[in-house]
Amino acid sequence: MEVSCLEPCVQLKLSREELENTVDKAKDWALMHGISMRSKVSFNKNQVQVLPFTLLPSSFPKKHFEKVKGIQVLLNELIHKVAHNNDFLIKSLKSTIGADSFTAKLFNIYETVYKEGFNQTVSLGLLRSDYMLHANQIKQVELNTIASSFGGIVTITSQYHKYILSELGYTDKIKNIPENNPINGLCKGLTHAWKLYDNKKAVILFVVENVTYNICDQRFHEFEISKINPDIKVIRKSLKDLVSEARLGPNKQLIVGNLEVSVVYFRSGYEVEAYPTEQEWEIRLLIERSKAIKCPSIQYHLAGTKKVQQSLAYSNALNVFLKDDNIIKQIQEIFAGLYSLEFNNETESVIDNAISHPKKYVLKPQREGGGNNVYDKDIKLRLESMRNSEERTAWILMDRFYPPVQKNYIVCARNEPFEDNYLHFSNVVSELGIYGVIIGNHDNIIYNKEVGHILRTKPSNENEGGIAAGIGAIDSPYLI
Ligand code: ADP
Ligand code: MG
Ligand code: MG
Repeated sequence: MEVSCLEPCVQLKLSREELENTVDKAKDWALMHGISMRSKVSFNKNQVQVLPFTLLPSSFPKKHFEKVKGIQVLLNELIHKVAHNNDFLIKSLKSTIGADSFTAKLFNIYETVYKEGFNQTVSLGLLRSDYMLHANQIKQVELNTIASSFGGIVTITSQYHKYILSELGYTDKIKNIPENNPINGLCKGLTHAWKLYDNKKAVILFVVENVTYNICDQRFHEFEISKINPDIKVIRKSLKDLVSEARLGPNKQLIVGNLEVSVVYFRSGYEVEAYPTEQEWEIRLLIERSKAIKCPSIQYHLAGTKKVQQSLAYSNALNVFLKDDNIIKQIQEIFAGLYSLEFNNETESVIDNAISHPKKYVLKPQREGGGNNVYDKDIKLRLESMRNSEERTAWILMDRFYPPVQKNYIVCARNEPFEDNYLHFSNVVSELGIYGVIIGNHDNIIYNKEVGHILRTKPSNENEGGIAAGIGAIDSPYLI
């Protein structure tokens, strides 16, 4: 695959000593401002460590950046409508839930509350639509409807990249780093939902992992909520905690301990590991049955599955949700080729093609959080092994992107001590994410905004760039 290149924002000409001093200062800036997380290797509640970040902002074409920023409110609306279309959800997910027990469990919860009638009709979505550049176009990787993370960290990272450019003497270039304040936008979504619930004493519940590594990002949300409205109290509980602490009140209020919950913000619950026993599933159902506003509600959660993404890429799918041809066209332009693996004749030829040319595709299951997809020759092996089994319907195939490469330094990558790493520019590629906030019920959209962006950057030879895994890095776009 031929790949193109992007010019880096600056060509650093520093001695080794100058570079080391710069990196030292950059790390301290990052640590002191919270571009940090807890260590997985030596977990200690009293400590955080700098998470991987790029020394310099990475170049990103302005026209593509603006295009996807501009369509975020349309995507918010689309996902909202998809989530409220029972027929579409059933049709899209029917075969997948036969093959994937995790999605089936989520779907069961959805069906249960759908049949009972929702006790809270309003949903809150803090979404993040992710993109890569490919062949001079910008294409959607996926759209996250649950636990869209790093809005706090990247707000700070934009400030860091401005700082480092000025520190290196490039103050004239700071203007190319766009304003970015997703933390405020996301938290305004949370506080708006809190207001809609209309009980000043009710708290916002963050549903978190048993052990949280990405603590700084989560706390940035909590602290921002307090800044926006100091009267709002936030509590943090894992699904496990909630098994013993949560119940429904007489009017379907969600009660935790002795506190009523207005908004449930899931930062966990998208991953299989969050549900080790049936009890966690029962708690998820209890939450969905409650009159608390959920971020996301179970229907928003399902609307964010890879399978729904693939269903939306069928040629006439968008016409069900959107009436304006021009809008439909704009959205279709960002979709990549996405292919169902359900049993039909069309699918067989896609599978044949993917087996012969695995580098043209990514094979994806219904999972979130990174590290689940299949690449390269493993695609061939996996497709061959499940070709005749129902299992394949739990997966989708997607055209693979090859974004343009550029040079940058990744600071604090997993291969510390990073001496070898940082004295060379390495080839990196980036993934842009746009944050969106949506609030609405079946009939109305009450709130719909685009609230900022994230750039994540990884070495170009890596298939995936998990930040927590230490492979990818937090970055800021430098618009060119
Ligand atoms: P998850 O929900 O686990 O984040 P993604 O669809 O975002 O799933 O895939 C994880 C990562 O895999 C992405 O961040 C990106 O690095 C890589 N990836 C996903 N889809 C593609 C694609 N079509 N082409 C190239 N890389 C991809
Ligand atoms: Mg995802
Ligand atoms: Mg992703």
